[in-house]
Amino acid sequence: IIYPGTFDPIHNGHINIAHRASHLFDELIFVVAVNNEKTTLFTAAERERLISESTGHLSNVRVKSYDGLVVNYAKESGAIGIIRGLRHVSDLEFEFQMAMMNYNMAPEITTIFMMPSEKYVHLNSSILKDIAKLEGDVSEYVPVYVLEQLQSKLNS
Ligand code: ADP
Repeated sequence: IIYPGTFDPIHNGHINIAHRASHLFDELIFVVAVNNEKTTLFTAAERERLISESTGHLSNVRVKSYDGLVVNYAKESGAIGIIRGLRHVSDLEFEFQMAMMNYNMAPEITTIFMMPSEKYVHLNSSILKDIAKLEGDVSEYVPVYVLEQLQSKLNS
């Protein structure tokens, strides 16, 4: 199964989903979006490294960067489906459209929505970066390694 996203940076909401999915599927591949419209704080290589360091305890989790269509990567890698996280009902509108377009392009690839534990429902990478920039405490929401890299990036 693949788990695509920007992951700028990975946080505990993503890890919560990866942890659950890694028990349900043989292998989970994080697919880091290289060229999307979002301006990122971390490069794709840095985001990849943050994910590997944060998921090292999950033996069937891998990470790849990709700059094409997610369904094409799913087909190339032999994945059966795509995991997307759902936080609020408001996520559903966009996610539903994307899932339908992906079904049209690749009917054999199934989109699966998963919800994180309640604690992480309000968490997203943008808010996390905003709080960290203003020197707020985000240690509850990211692994220690990500916290260190975030602080060093924001202070550089
Ligand atoms: P974000 O910047 O909002 O974290 P990403 O593009 O990095 O967004 O998200 C990648 C995938 O992870 C998406 O499917 C997204 O819905 C999901 N996701 C993002 N935040 C969370 C969270 N707090 N809990 C569960 N899934 C999440």
